[in-house]
Amino acid sequence: MSAHQTALVLFSGGQDSAVCLAHALTHYARVETLGFDYGQTHKIELNCRANLRQHMLTLNPDWADKLGDDHTLSLPALAEIGGTALIGDGEITMLDNDLPSTFVPGRNLLFLTYGAALAYRRGLHVLIGGMCETDFSGYPDCRRDTLDALQLALEKGMQSDITIETPLMYIDKAATWALADRLGGPDLVELIIEESHTCYRGDRSQRHDWGYGCGDCPACDLRQAGFEKWKNA
Ligand code: ZN
Repeated sequence: MSAHQTALVLFSGGQDSAVCLAHALTHYARVETLGFDYGQTHKIELNCRANLRQHMLTLNPDWADKLGDDHTLSLPALAEIGGTALIGDGEITMLDNDLPSTFVPGRNLLFLTYGAALAYRRGLHVLIGGMCETDFSGYPDCRRDTLDALQLALEKGMQSDITIETPLMYIDKAATWALADRLGGPDLVELIIEESHTCYRGDRSQRHDWGYGCGDCPACDLRQAGFEKWKNA
C-alpha cells in the first residue's frame, strides 16, 4: 500500500463529514478519523461521531477493513477567544462583514493544521474535509483558494507532501445527499439521517424526514432544503 492511499478525515459527526468518511473509505486503503472538541455549543455532534463510525462499519465489510483509529483533539483556546454564536450562547445573525455570527475565525485553518500534524505522525498523506464554497455560509476559510494556500504552507512548513482534499467543495447540499446515495446506497442515507447532526442549536428532540434538528436555524434550513431538492429531483 502506498502512503498516498492513506487518508485522515476531519470527522465532526455532521452530515458533510459522514459523506467525506464514506468517500475516503471508498477511495483510500487506510482511513483514520479526527474530531475536535473546542467547547462548541453542540457537543451532541461529537457524541454522534461514535455512532456514525460504528454503523458505517456494518454497511460494507470492505469499509470495516479500511477504517482505522479515531482521534480527538481538544482545542479549548477557541472557546477562550469566544465571540461566536457556535461557542457562546449568542443569537445566530448576519454580521456587518456579511459573515454569519456562527463564523469562528481561523477555525478550519487550525483544524487542518492540527490535522496535518497528526497525519504526519500517523504516516497519512491526504487530509479530507467537508469544506464547501457552494452554500450559504461563505466562510472564507472554506474556499478552495484559501485551502490551496494553506496546503502550500503545510507542505513547506512540514516538508511533507500533504494534500487537502475537499470532495464537497463545488456541490450543493442536494448533491451531497446524492453523493451519499452513490457511495453507500439507501443504508448510508438512512444512517446519515438518523445519526449525523447538523443543527446549530444542538436540538435532537425533533425528528424530520431529513434528520434531527430545531428546524429553523441556518444549518437546519440548509439541510432540509438540500434533502427536499434531492428527494424531488
Ligand atoms: Zn437547527
